[in-house]
Amino acid sequence: MSPTDPIDPTEPTAPDAAATSDALLRVRGLQKSFGSNQVLQSIDLTVGRGHVLALIGPSGSGKTTILRCLNGLELANGGTIDVADELSVDFAAIPGKSQRAALRDRSAMVFQHYNLFPHKTVLENVLEGPVVVQRRPKAEVEAEALALLDRVGLSAKKDSYPFELSGGQQQRVGIVRALALRPQLLLFDEPTSSLDPELVGDVLRLIKELAVEGWSMVIVTHELEFAREVATEVAFVDGGRIVERGDPNQLLRHPKEERTRQFLHRLL
Ligand code: ADP
Repeated sequence: MSPTDPIDPTEPTAPDAAATSDALLRVRGLQKSFGSNQVLQSIDLTVGRGHVLALIGPSGSGKTTILRCLNGLELANGGTIDVADELSVDFAAIPGKSQRAALRDRSAMVFQHYNLFPHKTVLENVLEGPVVVQRRPKAEVEAEALALLDRVGLSAKKDSYPFELSGGQQQRVGIVRALALRPQLLLFDEPTSSLDPELVGDVLRLIKELAVEGWSMVIVTHELEFAREVATEVAFVDGGRIVERGDPNQLLRHPKEERTRQFLHRLL
């Protein structure tokens, strides 16, 4: 259930740990265009092992595109993505299939609209990636999947179909499906913004538990209080750039940049 390299959450983390060689993820100069629309200008970010980076910013600023580039769902046009000291992808040249597959393997995405397969049961949804894509033994994956479903209170729903579940239950399945891939990095794209308000709390609690267990994560969220509590670092994205990043309390309460201030002011 925990990542391969968990940290002790009670241990103080050096403020600049993410900038050292201990970084799990290093992104430099990431660029992405859709046709003539350059959506990511030059994104630099670092995520330390066991750290949580929260991305906040206005709609259309490029947050989802950052996650999709990290996960290899979109092909960036420039820049580099390094994962630990094991994988280095340079987008100045179009990376080969094996590099793209390696990048995809490192992370797992939790989507805003859950994106479960509608014609598969809960358990089949969780098994699909590890068994079909990763080719792991079905019996082993099934035991792990059932334990994960039990953990999120959904083992009784293993044979249900997504349409039979509430949004909160579907999103918990989405999280279990991501965990079952045993990724080094979890990516959350506004994981609670499709949920009815009364269902948001359970999902946020689960994500917080995963953070405390030491999972490394990048989370796009509009839940600023959640970002303050769970994140190691918050980055404010606007116009395809990271305008400001820093300690959650400092950035959310005393931002340095006027654009950050204006954005936060609008949400309050
Ligand atoms: P955010 O997550 O901050 O709301 P997005 O990353 O979804 O922002 O979108 C950033 C910009 O990229 C928007 O202008 C959006 O219209 C554009 N965009 C995103 N995906 C595509 C796509 N597949 N094709 C064309 N434009 C896209």
